[in-house]
Amino acid sequence: MKNSSSCYKCAGRKIIKVPGKRHRSPGDNAIPVGWLHTGTIPVTRYVCCQCGYSEEWIEDPKHIKKLETSYDNHDLDEFV
Ligand SMILES: [Zn+2]
Repeated sequence: MKNSSSCYKCAGRKIIKVPGKRHRSPGDNAIPVGWLHTGTIPVTRYVCCQCGYSEEWIEDPKHIKKLETSYDNHDLDEFV
């Protein structure tokens, strides 16, 4: 829905953008990164106002790279 003007699930036309924040307080949407996970990467949500479907995006390419280097060495089984 970031790249379209309508919802993939219900074709609703009203999509709102909820920006992520880097701070760790209730309601913030972020992924911890770095040594001891002291840093955070903000995650932006796009929400359909008709059906409530939402999707999440890391919008800054630098943040994507940081996540890749932070999580690349982890065994996927760790997250199961
Ligand atoms: Zn929808």
